[in-house]
Amino acid sequence: MPLVGIARLASESPLLEAKRAVQYFEIPSRSILNRTKPSMPFRWTINPYRGCEFGCKYCYARYTHEFMEMEPADFEDKIYAKASPAHLLRQELSKIDRRDGIAIGTATDPYQPAERRYGRTREILEVFARERGRHVGLITKSDLIVRDIGLLKEIARANVFGVHITITTLDEKLARLLEPRAPRPELRLDAVRRLAEAGVVVGVNPNPIMPGITDGERSLDRLAKASRDAGAVTFGGGPLFLMPSAQKVFFPFLEREFPHLLPRYRALYEKSAYLGRDYKDILAARVRRIRDRYGLASGMIDYKPEIWIEEQGDLFADIA
Ligand code: SF4
Repeated sequence: MPLVGIARLASESPLLEAKRAVQYFEIPSRSILNRTKPSMPFRWTINPYRGCEFGCKYCYARYTHEFMEMEPADFEDKIYAKASPAHLLRQELSKIDRRDGIAIGTATDPYQPAERRYGRTREILEVFARERGRHVGLITKSDLIVRDIGLLKEIARANVFGVHITITTLDEKLARLLEPRAPRPELRLDAVRRLAEAGVVVGVNPNPIMPGITDGERSLDRLAKASRDAGAVTFGGGPLFLMPSAQKVFFPFLEREFPHLLPRYRALYEKSAYLGRDYKDILAARVRRIRDRYGLASGMIDYKPEIWIEEQGDLFADIA
C-alpha cells in the first residue's frame, strides 16, 4: 500500500545529518600495567580504555587502533574497555616496587564518556585507595573526574598522588574545533578548582602545544593565570607530536580550519613526527617564563608521548 500523509512525508524527507554511532566493546588483557623507559619519571602506565570518544584532532594515540587493523578514525567510534582491571592491578602491584611511578591516562582519557557506564577507571582507583606509599599520577581532560573526588582524597592520604588536567586553550570555539567532544575548558577549570579545594594536588597541562594555534605567549599566559587562580600548582607543556596516523586526521583538519598553516605543518612534520630543537627550546623557555610569573612548578608528568610510545609495544601485546 502506498504511504500517505505524514508517513509519506517522513519517507521522502532529505537526510540532514546522521549522528555518529559509538560502539563499546570489552577486551581481555593479560596485564594492566605497561612498562615505560627507565629514564621516565614514571615506570608504568595504565590506560583503562582503548580508543577515545573525545576525538581530539591532534590525538597521538590513534595509532593504537591501527595496530588492531582499524582506521585512525575508528579510534573515536570503537571503544574498548579493558576487562577485569582491578583483578589484574592487584596481582601486578604485588610484583613491582612500591616507589615505582605509575601514570594513569597517558594514551587514552580515563574519564572519557565510556567511564560513566563501565567504570573501569573507578575500579582501578578503588585498588589504589587501599594501597600505601605508591606514586601515582592521573591525566584527563574531563570534568567527570569530580565524581571520584572522595576516592582521590583517599588515595592522596596514603600515597604520593597528583592529577593533571589538560587544557589546550581557554578559547571555547577553538577548543570545540580541536577537541570536538571533550568538556569545555571552563568545566575543566572548574574541575581543577574542585580538586584543589578537596586538597588533591592538581596541575594544568596545555598539551599538546600546537605551533601557530595554541603556542602564543598571551594565550598560554592567560591559561596559566586562570589555572593558578583555580588552585593548580603545576603547569607543564610540550610541543605537538604528530605521527603519520595522527597526520591523517590533523592535516585534513588544518586544510578545513587553518588552511594558511597547512604548508608550514607539512614542512615541519612530514619528515618527522617531532619538532626541531630550535622550536622546542623557544617553547620550553616560553613555558618556563610563564610558569615563573605565576609561581607554578613544572608538571609532575612530562608530556613526552614519543617516549611513552616506544616502550608501549605492550599497549598492544597485552591483548590476551
Ligand atoms: S582526550 Fe586524549 S586520548 Fe582522547 S582523543 Fe583527546 S587526545 Fe586522544
